[in-house]
Amino acid sequence: MQVIKTKNQLSLILTEERSKGCNIGLVPTMGALHQGHISLIERCVQENDICVCSLFVNPSQFNDKNDLIKYPRQPEKDAQLLREAGCSILFMPDEQEMYPEQDTRVFNFGQLEEVMEGVYRKGHFNGVAQIVSKLFDIVQPNKAYFGQKDFQQLAVVRKMVEQLSMGIEIISCPIVREKSGLAMSSRNALLTLEQKEKAALISKYLIESFTFVSTKTPAEVTGFVKKSINAEPMLRLEYFEIVDGTTLQGIHDWTDASCVVGCIAVYCGSVRLIDNIVYKNAD
Ligand code: AMP
Repeated sequence: MQVIKTKNQLSLILTEERSKGCNIGLVPTMGALHQGHISLIERCVQENDICVCSLFVNPSQFNDKNDLIKYPRQPEKDAQLLREAGCSILFMPDEQEMYPEQDTRVFNFGQLEEVMEGVYRKGHFNGVAQIVSKLFDIVQPNKAYFGQKDFQQLAVVRKMVEQLSMGIEIISCPIVREKSGLAMSSRNALLTLEQKEKAALISKYLIESFTFVSTKTPAEVTGFVKKSINAEPMLRLEYFEIVDGTTLQGIHDWTDASCVVGCIAVYCGSVRLIDNIVYKNAD
């Protein structure tokens, strides 16, 4: 695995590979890698001649400075995990390399960013679009891999690719969970053992809510999840919404959309966790 720190060097290598007819896959990450990330890498390795993993903790997508400061970092361990997973290139730029000057671009994703994460993390998706578009520009991948854990991010990235006619295939990968059901996340490293146990209740209630789909309305299921989380003293619910998986707008009836997803954000101590459950899928 090659470890590359500059855009120019990465471009040179990839231009050469492309001229040989190689397909390029990209997995953008912020590091502190876990099995969730590795599942994306493995799929990327399988489906492409070259797998590029970017590791960059992107300041422009953090609306909370404290969250950025305490974000876990373990570059050496990450490099080892990527090597073992068969990644070809690790792109690890510093901030100056990605933002030689302030990125003032403003994206507009309409109603996709007016709900859920877009409401509670103002400017977050603009920052995501800034970094992902830069990475797409440098790597020019055939395919890029994103996790369904960040459901709204996937919708926003797909929209950006469509708006900018980037011609990159976006591959969505299933959520990888701990044995307890807790969705794997770099931020889980910030939880105490007790908090980790309590955080597992988030997925437990989501899974339980799934069993009510045939007997309860979306509003009733929403009520169940909210009540269950609110009854846990160590958890603080930020939002739970049952939405159309394509438009991300709330639904009233299960038949309102062909894909229906319940998205949740919960604080466990000072750590913010997100998760989701697909109630109904078009595929
Ligand atoms: P991050 O490093 O948090 O920006 O995540 C990088 C990519 O890994 C994103 O596309 C995430 O959606 C994906 N990802 C993070 N956690 C998981 C997980 N538990 N299962 C699957 N994909 C994940």
